[in-house]
Amino acid sequence: MNTLIEKYNIPCPRYTSYPTVPNWKQIPMGEEEWLQSVRQNLAHFKQNKTAVYIHLPFCESMCTFCGCHKRITKNHGVEGGYVDALLNEWQIYSDQFLLHIDDLHLGGGTPTFFSMEQLDRLLGKILGKQKGQLDDCNFSFEGHPNHTKKEHLEGLYKWGFRRVSFGIQDYDQTVQKAIHRFQSFEQVQQVHELAKKIGYKSISHDLVYGLPKQNWQGFKRSIELTLQLRPDRVSLYSYAHVPWIKGNGQRGFDESDLPDNHEKRALYEGARELFLDAGYIEIGMDHFALPHDDLAIALKNKSLHRNFMGYTVQENNLLIGLGASSISDSYFAFAQNEKKVETYQELALQGQVPIVKGHLLSAQDQQIRRNILDLMCQYESELPSDPELTANIRKQLEELKEDGLILIEDGKVRVLEEGEAFVRNVCRAFDQYIDHSQIDNQTYSKAI
Ligand code: SF4
Repeated sequence: MNTLIEKYNIPCPRYTSYPTVPNWKQIPMGEEEWLQSVRQNLAHFKQNKTAVYIHLPFCESMCTFCGCHKRITKNHGVEGGYVDALLNEWQIYSDQFLLHIDDLHLGGGTPTFFSMEQLDRLLGKILGKQKGQLDDCNFSFEGHPNHTKKEHLEGLYKWGFRRVSFGIQDYDQTVQKAIHRFQSFEQVQQVHELAKKIGYKSISHDLVYGLPKQNWQGFKRSIELTLQLRPDRVSLYSYAHVPWIKGNGQRGFDESDLPDNHEKRALYEGARELFLDAGYIEIGMDHFALPHDDLAIALKNKSLHRNFMGYTVQENNLLIGLGASSISDSYFAFAQNEKKVETYQELALQGQVPIVKGHLLSAQDQQIRRNILDLMCQYESELPSDPELTANIRKQLEELKEDGLILIEDGKVRVLEEGEAFVRNVCRAFDQYIDHSQIDNQTYSKAI
């Protein structure tokens, strides 16, 4: 295993999209080009079920491990102008399309940085027409344990939110100090129990392995504390160390503070064992869920899906991303919004779709995207029917096969149990944009 980790721990995309953002071709992408792809989606799928992601970028304090697009400020005066811009952006879509939101996620940043009054203003406009039809929807938000108040939990519950994920990362105080992210078990327990009491049916805790100063003794204690609260889901993310991309945000500690490849993998394996022993089911690369949770049910029913936000329980062919840096997916195209908060607001307030780049998917892109989704969600996929494309992919899969990580038979690739840790590498073999001879480029974080 150790030799395989050395061999395959190369820079590798996380494949929340294919092609991955660095390979998108439409820079800039025109507003009409994007809106036309939304029209194409609605005509093709003949239904208007839509997933919406709203990016709320503000945080009161900087966590030095964070790779998200965020703006650090304690000035809550920024909330109103940002909500105005979001509403203007949504108006462009609702003026042209009749969309029914059945999947909604508030991410950030810290969504609960915003007061419930501002969130009510936002959701009132976006969900107003759907009032009374929110029961079967899949609405979720990210809650910072230190900034999620009773009014947030109650207020969002009224809008149909039934799932909340709390960012924990690690309870070990040495790690918390290194990543400048502080919250006690008691704070998490309080907000977790309150969410449960209000009626949230899926509470998720997000942990991160591979953080500076992390060791098994401390991380084991964090898992044990997590198990005391027994969240319905756990996300166990790999820390992506890319300071050359994220700038000062990831420079609050030394490279020597990070666990090495083997220690990092051991943290995941140790945590995995504890979660499996406690009755959790492993979902894809980095999630665990109790058997009653929708994510575990979706895995069993083979309806698990993955998009820019990670694993989801239903496949939506249309995702509209609102807010600075948000990504949209119309199945036929991807588009990303302006990342700088002020520029985003300016564009949205002028009534423009604030996109800056995108990609129109070719038939081959759509085929490979399907392969990658299948591998990420089911650990198997049919090889494409195009002989030339399949020959290319087979060539890249050869070493993984020789190393006993995958099986290729009857035109199908199956990831073996020994290969599950390397699923990103298997997906990489399908990638037609990446330079396969280059294993030291700095565009992506490492695979393991
Ligand atoms: S981890 Fe969350 S709270 Fe911390 S800086 Fe990043 S987005 Fe903000």
